[in-house]
Amino acid sequence: MTSDQARPASPGIALEGIRKTFGDVVAVDGVDLEIPDGELFAMLGPSGSGKTTVLRMIAGFEQPTAGTVRLGGVDATALPPFKRDVNTVFQDYALFPHMTVQQNVEYGLRVRGVGRAERTKRAGEALEMVRLSGFGARRPVQLSGGQRQRVALARALVVRPRVLLLDEPLGALDLKLREQMQVELKAIQREVGITFVFVTHDQDEALTLCDRLAVFNQGRIEQVGDAADVYERPASRFVAEFVGTSNILEGRVAQALLDREGVHAVRPEKITVLGPDAAVPPQARRVSGTIAEVVYAGATTRVLVDAAGTTLAAVLLNAEADALPDLTRGAPVVLAWHESAVHALAS
Ligand code: ADP
Ligand code: MG
Repeated sequence: MTSDQARPASPGIALEGIRKTFGDVVAVDGVDLEIPDGELFAMLGPSGSGKTTVLRMIAGFEQPTAGTVRLGGVDATALPPFKRDVNTVFQDYALFPHMTVQQNVEYGLRVRGVGRAERTKRAGEALEMVRLSGFGARRPVQLSGGQRQRVALARALVVRPRVLLLDEPLGALDLKLREQMQVELKAIQREVGITFVFVTHDQDEALTLCDRLAVFNQGRIEQVGDAADVYERPASRFVAEFVGTSNILEGRVAQALLDREGVHAVRPEKITVLGPDAAVPPQARRVSGTIAEVVYAGATTRVLVDAAGTTLAAVLLNAEADALPDLTRGAPVVLAWHESAVHALAS
């Protein structure tokens, strides 16, 4: 194809065969990934799975041992960080403590030689964007954790990068504030429209925030997709267990419960817990068991049931408590699920 119209736009970020070793440690082991412009993309994985290293290679703070980093269709593999149209928000925010909020936000413009009037105007706009107008004269110590996080965000956005990289941006905040900031971060990203790539080890955060995510394990990507893809159709056993929880059924147990070979995942919330004499809906599969553990968690109750030589987890909504059977340890129950709840795994 030669016409420009027919050629697909190059993705904002493209990683091709990226590898990174530190001595004997293989930090990143062959990553291919494309992130289109304007996406809110999450890199999710356990500690040590290579997320930060991938982010640092996009930013240019690390050089890949092998592979290519393309930004906006251009090979950026050998470019130093300041020549990439990319900015980073670090987990510790790295604000200058001796500067005011206004000075912190203006900093990136000052080092780029932007004049005073323009600096003041753009910093004001950036502070407004993160809803911190009126805080310009404060110093970082006079701010809460969430406010500091937003200053860091304003400071990164003020230079209008094409891509913003965020490494565990909400990691230092307590749960309530983190949930608020998740919503705000998403709103800000929508407002500015630039690509955000954020790293997290928190699966709830990744699922809540992102347009799409990549699940990392031991330096590799196990799956890329939107939240529902990854949750409903995990590509591997690792993803099924890391993103939410799954009952993994294989071998003899899969034979007994599912009449199937191979490895299968069933989400706990897709299993219904019934009394021993309750009618099981037609077309549902069933197994009798005994309650081994009951964990009350406010909105839900998690029940572990010994059945067919294994232990299965089910999650029940407490709002539906009236319809639930006797949930005490040792009580006999029947577990039921539909065939559509069973997801076959590659391994
Ligand atoms: P994550 O961000 O997913 O927790 P990292 O990318 O930080 O993972 O690290 C991946 C692996 O690479 C880990 O085993 C880590 O110890 C190792 N690693 C990262 N940076 C360095 C470094 N500068 N020197 C040596 N090993 C490193
Ligand atoms: Mg990290």
